[in-house]
Amino acid sequence: MKNSQSDNTDQSFVPPVLPTYARADVAFVRGEGVYAYDAQDNRYLDFGSGIGVNNLGFCHPALVKALTEQAGKIWHTSNLYRIEGQERLAERLTRECFADSMFFTNSGAEAMECAIKMARKFHDDNGDPDRFRIITFEGCFHGRTLATIAAAGSEKLIKGFGPMPDGFDHVPFYKDMSKVEEHITEETAAILIEPVQGEGGIRPVSRENLEILRKLCDKHGILLMFDEVQCGMGRTGKLFAYQHSAIKPDILATAKGIGGGFPLGACMATDRVAQCMKAGTHGSTYGGNPLAMAVGNAVLDVVLADGFMEHVDQMSYELRKALVKLGSSYPDVIDVVRGKGLMLGLKLHTPVPDFVGTALKNGLMLVGAADNTVRLLPPLIVTEEQVEEAIGLLDKTCTDLKKALDAKKADSDTGD
Ligand SMILES: *Cc1c(COP(=O)(O)O)cnc(C)c1O
Repeated sequence: MKNSQSDNTDQSFVPPVLPTYARADVAFVRGEGVYAYDAQDNRYLDFGSGIGVNNLGFCHPALVKALTEQAGKIWHTSNLYRIEGQERLAERLTRECFADSMFFTNSGAEAMECAIKMARKFHDDNGDPDRFRIITFEGCFHGRTLATIAAAGSEKLIKGFGPMPDGFDHVPFYKDMSKVEEHITEETAAILIEPVQGEGGIRPVSRENLEILRKLCDKHGILLMFDEVQCGMGRTGKLFAYQHSAIKPDILATAKGIGGGFPLGACMATDRVAQCMKAGTHGSTYGGNPLAMAVGNAVLDVVLADGFMEHVDQMSYELRKALVKLGSSYPDVIDVVRGKGLMLGLKLHTPVPDFVGTALKNGLMLVGAADNTVRLLPPLIVTEEQVEEAIGLLDKTCTDLKKALDAKKADSDTGD
């Protein structure tokens, strides 16, 4: 029998769910399109998409149908057998991007782990086992496993979890990426970058800089790896964000939007790189199981349909325009608007938790990020009316924060 109370002399009781998140005190019980509802039927407008995951909103009819139909057939078989949904999804994705082959995972971090392993194995297979180091950028985020926190290297992620796996070189998020060349050595295997940094505060890498990185990789015989876990799958108005540029990566990890809320990720590579991953080199029990594949294929049907990306572009244009206007109305609250497609950020003058908390009270779900930035990641199916509704709620949020700021200022003016 557990005897936690009498054993626990310091009176710090840990709740049954490990408290690794500072959660808002709201629980949603159902969702429909861009709206989520709590048990009291209060309605919230979702401009966070479960951190860029629910790209088609809640309970998209095509996804519900795909999942429930598959649930009545077969859930799980393991990767010891062929999975037709994987073959279909992989074939379709290879037609839409640089990749020739891919490995399915359950999450973004797992897709990144596969990417890191593949970069090392590629050089090992080519007789260059000393090339194992990967260059990563200040502000990046690649997941929460040991290798992916080591890849990011920030104090916030790694403190207390050492020793870190070796093999990552952290460099500044340069305005001019040609400076990365200074950090390339005989041991460098790859450069890893998010074409749009998500957690780092919605910081896009320019098309020119992506092209510079490609040139550097070619010159030094190293691999270019993109983490499109957040910015991929239509989020920026292209299936993958790198497709705004003229270049291609060697390896790309994606997740979040690819499963529309069902846990799914993928690590993709070119033929040249993928050749190093033979039977037995990597695996996952659940990765790409029939349920995930049914949903993944259904997500792709919607995202690849005619006019979908044009819709994302159109909504992005409307939202961005309105945000810039909002920024000029509340210069004390909003510093700048940035981002790409429907991956937009507001860099603030006020604390992000205040902004996100006030917005939630007003019925709008948002997501914080680093660099004092709040993320707007609405479902890609958002309509113009819903963009207007969000702007109304953001306006109210800014008014509330401005009032609080003014009250504080008045306080300190007349204070002791
Ligand atoms: C969310 C995220 C990850 C990690 O994905 P998980 O599914 O949480 O493991 C990795 N990279 C980027 C860019 C992300 O946004």
